[in-house]
Order: sequence, then C-alpha cells, then structure tokens
Amino acid sequence: LNSQEKIIVLIVAAGGGTRLGSEIPKQYIKLQGRTILAHSIAAFAGNSGISGIQVVIGKGHGKFYREAAKDFDILPPIFGGKTRQESVFKGLIKIAKYAPDKVLIHDAARPFVSAKITNAVVKKLKTAKVAVPVIVISDTVKCLKPRVKTLDKANLALAQTPQGFDFPEILAAHHKAKGKNFPDDAAVVEYSGIAVSVVPGEEKNYKITTPYDLEKAKTMLGGEIRVGSGFDIHAFGSGNHVTLCGVKIPHNRGLIGHSDADVGLHALTDALLGSIGAADIGEHFPPSDKKWKNADSAIFLRHAATLIAEKAGRINNIDVTIIAESPKISPHREKMRAKIAAILQIPLEKISVKATTTEGLGFIGRSEGVAAQAVVVVEV
Ligand code: ZN
Repeated sequence: LNSQEKIIVLIVAAGGGTRLGSEIPKQYIKLQGRTILAHSIAAFAGNSGISGIQVVIGKGHGKFYREAAKDFDILPPIFGGKTRQESVFKGLIKIAKYAPDKVLIHDAARPFVSAKITNAVVKKLKTAKVAVPVIVISDTVKCLKPRVKTLDKANLALAQTPQGFDFPEILAAHHKAKGKNFPDDAAVVEYSGIAVSVVPGEEKNYKITTPYDLEKAKTMLGGEIRVGSGFDIHAFGSGNHVTLCGVKIPHNRGLIGHSDADVGLHALTDALLGSIGAADIGEHFPPSDKKWKNADSAIFLRHAATLIAEKAGRINNIDVTIIAESPKISPHREKMRAKIAAILQIPLEKISVKATTTEGLGFIGRSEGVAAQAVVVVEV
C-alpha cells in the first residue's frame, strides 16, 4: 500500500433494513456482541493504508450509531438520502473537503470483508480508475422475461464492495448521475462511460440481507464463549435420603434446605445463571417464598436454561463436582448425568458429574454436610 496516497473508506449504513424482521435497522443488529456496522468498520480500521473512515447513517439512527462506533477513531457521521445512490453522493460531497486521492465505498451489511479484498482493490487502483471485487456464479442463471432463457454465466459475475474509485472521477460521475437510481457505484461510473476493472471478491464477503444470511453470519462468527461457576452447600439433618443432581439416594440422614436441598443442581443452576450474568438462584427463587418449600430443584435448573435459550445461547458442556464423605456417589453418577441431560435436553456426553471427599478433613470430612461446585461453558 502506498502511504502517500489519501484513501478514505465511505461506509454506507443509511438503509432501514426492515427485511430481517427486526425492530432495529439491520446494520445495528449485534453479532458476537458487536453490531454489523462495527464489524464492517473494524475491517478497515486496522488497515494502515486507509487514511480515514466516513460512515453515512440513516436519519434517526444517531443513537444506534454512537453506540456502534464508540470504539473507533473515525470521521463524524453524516446523514444519507432517500436512496443508496443519494447517500453515497452526500458522503462523497462531505469527504471532498479532505481532498482524498481514492475512495473505497462499502456496504455496512458486508461485515466479513477481508484485508485481502481491500488490498486487492487498492492495488488495482494504481493502474485503474475503478476497481470492483466480483465473484463467479456457480448456479445456472436464467433470464425470466420475456420468456425463460439460460444465460452464459461465463460472462457474468456478482459485484461486491468495497468498490474503489479515483476520487475526482467518482464525484463527477455522481454529479452526472444525480436523480438516477443505480444499484451500486460501479453502475454510476459505467453511466459516465468510465471503464471498470475487477478483482477477485470472496464468497464470505456476502451482504447480510435475509434472516438466513443473519443465521449464517452467527454461525461464521461462532458464539461468544462464556464460563459460569457455581458453588453450594447444605448441612445434614434428620431424614432417610438425599437428593443429588436430581437423583434420590437412600441415606441415614437428609440434607436441610428450603427446597429439596439438591446441592448438585443448585451449584449447576448458579453456574448457568453466572454464565449470562443473571444473578443467582436465591434472587430468582427467594427462600422466603413459601412456593419453593420442598421444591424439585429441576424447576430452578430449567429456569436457568430457559434464560440462556432466550439469549439464543447454547450450553456447550457442564462439569459438576460433588464433595461429600457420604453417601457414596459413584454408584449414582451415571443416573445423575442422565437426569441433568433430561432436564436440560442436551446430549449426555456434554455432561460430567464427579465426586470427591475431603479426606476426612473439615466439616465435610466430619460428614456435617455435602457441597457441590459446577463449571459450565455456554455459547451466546
Ligand atoms: Zn442450595
């Protein structure tokens, strides 16, 4: 990259983007804790060949924009127009005062643009006035009107962004195309008769348009990995059984607690709540509430799982350790795993239940109670 040249990236984020069925404009939907727009800005912010980034936003999107762009040192946003072309034109007029040599115009809804594409566009601009990333078409292409006809796809390609331009050329072309409604900026310069050069795009640099595109984006990024931990302890009292990880085990004593005193499920519930920052079991199910007296702790666990599901989260794995001198846990271990799997509706192999003693030391060693700790990994 030639650092002498002033290259500004103009990101078009002015669309309403209602096709995803979301309340908020699609460029402000979060993927892995970051808006789609922020992912797009980040793709250029680290590129040493880029002198500045200018975002064109929609009217009324100021609040969304401030939150999305707060981590970046970029030019103040400007409001776009009624069409994409109008928005770009406004952006070009705004950045004209910085007298850039080149401009790269990018759709905010393409957050997966790679440095490879950007650098290829910039490199092409050394010898061309216009550089557009394109990808080949794998499906057979039909023209539907006036009657269905198969096109020779060898001559066709799909255009992506960032599209790179010599700045004075694109500004003049936009002036000339004012009032028209071209789908992209390459079409604007084509209208002025300027030759367009192409560079290889990438399939992953697709534009997020449909709900399926959004699902695909989430899969591509993977979820955010969260870890939660939980600990619980209950004292022995009178009784003839204990309930551990949902399994009733005959014993010469019972565990004292408001609910069924299942330390295993309580620790696990707290770990799941902890993974999404949703406080603790006592806050969701106050011991002061009579409703939870002798309650089946599976209710608590299911509630934590529901909260995770509501965040579109997924439990990756669970590791529960029961710390007890008695009763003996190992004969019931498999049943406990199966019970947790059934409550949470997740595969058995993702669940570990193990047990340890404290070698006769301390209150657990003196068999005064049973403790449990749990660690979970959750993808949100
Ligand atoms: Zn408890």
